[in-house]
Amino acid sequence: MKLFKIQDIIPQIPNLLFRRRFRFTFELLPFEVRELHLKKIWNFFYAGLNQFLLPVRPVGYPVIAQVEPVNFCNLSCPLCLTTLESDSRPKMALSFDTFKHFIDTIGDYLLFIVLWMNGEPFLHPDIFRMISYAKSKKVIVHTSTNGNVNFNEDQAAMLVECGLDSLVVGVDGASQETYTRYRRGGDLELVLRNIRTVIKVKQEKGSDTPLVNLRFIVMKHNENEIPAIKKLAEELQIDFLTFRTVASVKALETDFCRYYLPETRDYRGYENSAEKSRRKQKRFTCMRPWKRITLSASGEVIPCEYDYKNTHAFGALDTKESPLSIWKGKSGRDFRSKFNAGNNHYYLCRDCVYKDMVVDDCTVEIFRCTQTSEKK
Ligand code: SF4
Repeated sequence: MKLFKIQDIIPQIPNLLFRRRFRFTFELLPFEVRELHLKKIWNFFYAGLNQFLLPVRPVGYPVIAQVEPVNFCNLSCPLCLTTLESDSRPKMALSFDTFKHFIDTIGDYLLFIVLWMNGEPFLHPDIFRMISYAKSKKVIVHTSTNGNVNFNEDQAAMLVECGLDSLVVGVDGASQETYTRYRRGGDLELVLRNIRTVIKVKQEKGSDTPLVNLRFIVMKHNENEIPAIKKLAEELQIDFLTFRTVASVKALETDFCRYYLPETRDYRGYENSAEKSRRKQKRFTCMRPWKRITLSASGEVIPCEYDYKNTHAFGALDTKESPLSIWKGKSGRDFRSKFNAGNNHYYLCRDCVYKDMVVDDCTVEIFRCTQTSEKK
């Protein structure tokens, strides 16, 4: 089930109330929260009202947080905002104290943290400490890596022991040549070695977590390697392999279609006609400013992960102010009031990568590596 989809939530109400458990999917990946504190359950229902009422001042606490540990990266993927906008803001790492304050204030109400945004999270010196701290509040922690960092056995042990629930590893090619066409500066051998180390340590420790999800963004130059990546995923004994459509702020440009949009229709996030991609004309409703609280590496609360320059920041977090009062404060209220029921004309949302995509979710297919695939 999807977080917040009413038809999926209703059958789970007995489990939520009596067993204090809740199952949901995020980007098709399955998650389960256990031993939910009553505060979280109460807030989950209360905050759910936001998606129907769209109040400028949301009720309750956010249920999902997206946090950016660092805004810099060791690779230069051509469609990533970190590459495209590398000069538009200083390179920063979120201070651990700011993160701790964020979790101390709202962690008792959060179900889920997406611990990445722009940049490679594992370049943050305190990343394991951040994960452990979030886990102390029984929040599900989901993060991602390009895998071009060093996971020796000690680091892999820390990764398992910090309690991380889910680790996405971006691998968009089964051969080095294909892989580096997008993951510029990357080393596929190093990534595969790291995955093997993490799986080995997980097995030695008898741990089910972190669930390792190999994520393949399907593009024109790599779609021929889909069979090879499936074989590789099985060989690596990872938990899940997911296929994702390529999305970009440059999706309407001719070059995007020519160089990136795959031929296989099932893996296209945008329609295309001849040499130009088109966006499907359908109503798009974004709930980000209501459902999620987003914290950038600079410590600012922003409307969503695409506000790369923090132009529409709701406010900067310091240890005296609560993230909740910023999220519900005047700038946030102004932003939501102009949002016009899920959309607006700020530069930020006018060209949103999600606007008028032909798929509801960029992740379009998941393989549980030991079982059969589930397709949307
Ligand atoms: S940029 Fe897109 S995801 Fe972000 S708030 Fe605007 S519409 Fe939502």
